[in-house]
Amino acid sequence: MSNFQSPRGLPIKHIKIGDLRFRLFIPESIIEERIQELAKSIKSDYRGKNPIIICVLKGAILFTSDLVKAGEIDGQIDFVRLSSYDGTTSTEKVKELMSIASDIKGRHVLVIEDIVDTGRTLDYYLKHLKKQEPLSVELAALLLKPDALKFPVDIKYLGFKIPDLFVVGYGLDYNESGRGLRDIYQLDLPDVGLY
Ligand code: 5GP
Repeated sequence: MSNFQSPRGLPIKHIKIGDLRFRLFIPESIIEERIQELAKSIKSDYRGKNPIIICVLKGAILFTSDLVKAGEIDGQIDFVRLSSYDGTTSTEKVKELMSIASDIKGRHVLVIEDIVDTGRTLDYYLKHLKKQEPLSVELAALLLKPDALKFPVDIKYLGFKIPDLFVVGYGLDYNESGRGLRDIYQLDLPDVGLY
């Protein structure tokens, strides 16, 4: 899969959040289409398995909800809150701000994340889950930035590969703003002159 490119003819739409300017990158209709495809695979892979679906808060809340609904996926939903980001940059420490309540021993587990950047958060968390002896652990992520990846994580259900640029919308925030946007926006870097 190559990096997602905005379709030709996409309206040029800018928004401002705080001090930053963003431009339309992945429109709602394309997100919806991809979610239908992923939901179909997940539904068929987990039929009769009653998985524990772990939504990684806060960013994956909309993706989880739409995915579970699109596939009418039957499972137990739980939440974890992990944090490794500060503003627009990844930090070295992963903090578990809220843990799941479920006992995952002997259960199939599907972790749902919004975006994999360096992979540090998921590398840490998947290892942590595997120590609890689940029957299986798989990962669904809406976005992956392959050029930023430092900790390889295996994403079974991936929405889109994107370039290494900061994005907001559809659950993803910039300092707690922008999560409710239906489309995904990319940081609009100022033009850099040629020297
Ligand atoms: P990683 O540990 O893979 O470096 O970072 C994963 C977490 O960083 C994601 O769950 C997300 O919260 C945050 N993150 C990474 N890239 C972006 C981005 O482009 N936009 C936003 N809003 N959050 C991001």
